[in-house]
Amino acid sequence: MKFLEDKIRAEGTVLPGHVLKVGHFANHQIDITLLREMARELSRLYADAGVTKVLTIEASGIALAAAVALEMDVPMVFAKKNATANVSGEVYCAKVASFTHKKIYDVIVPKDYLSADDRVLIVDDFLAQGNALNGLVAIVEESGASVAGCGIIIEKGFQGGGDALREKGYRVESLAIVESMNDETGEITFRGE
Ligand code: 5GP
Repeated sequence: MKFLEDKIRAEGTVLPGHVLKVGHFANHQIDITLLREMARELSRLYADAGVTKVLTIEASGIALAAAVALEMDVPMVFAKKNATANVSGEVYCAKVASFTHKKIYDVIVPKDYLSADDRVLIVDDFLAQGNALNGLVAIVEESGASVAGCGIIIEKGFQGGGDALREKGYRVESLAIVESMNDETGEITFRGE
């Protein structure tokens, strides 16, 4: 989405440690017109994929996931992050290393919320090394449901998580793919430029 790339370049901030801040329009304060456009685009891309449920991880994926689910008219589920491993047999659980918080979380979804006949679209605001998505894919597959694909606002292509998932055969659609970013100059380049 060219206008998303332009907005990231104009308003995003590149921080040390390969972190891109877009919190004032994408994932903390949310530009609701932009959110609607992004949700429509992901819904259009997956229109023929037989999606029955949208899955994300708390917290910053929730707004996008709800908007996509509304467009697709299917339920939305988010995985909760538990710092402590107090996991019962009633939940699916995966361990996820957080890119931004440098912690390992148990990520859980109640078994009731996913079933073997679900076809799940996994969405998130960012895709970096792929830890969050790999955890969500593992949960979907443990439930017996199938992964329709992944829908992301910003993939940082240079961190490899998206291409590793594609190589494993998963469909990954990112609305913007950052190919490089420089925290000294603030310069950002996108895939295909
Ligand atoms: P991954 O698990 O793919 O390494 O990282 C994805 C997760 O970390 C996302 O859920 C996102 O919330 C967070 N994240 C990764 N990179 C960034 C970034 O550059 N900026 C922000 N705001 N969040 C990020």
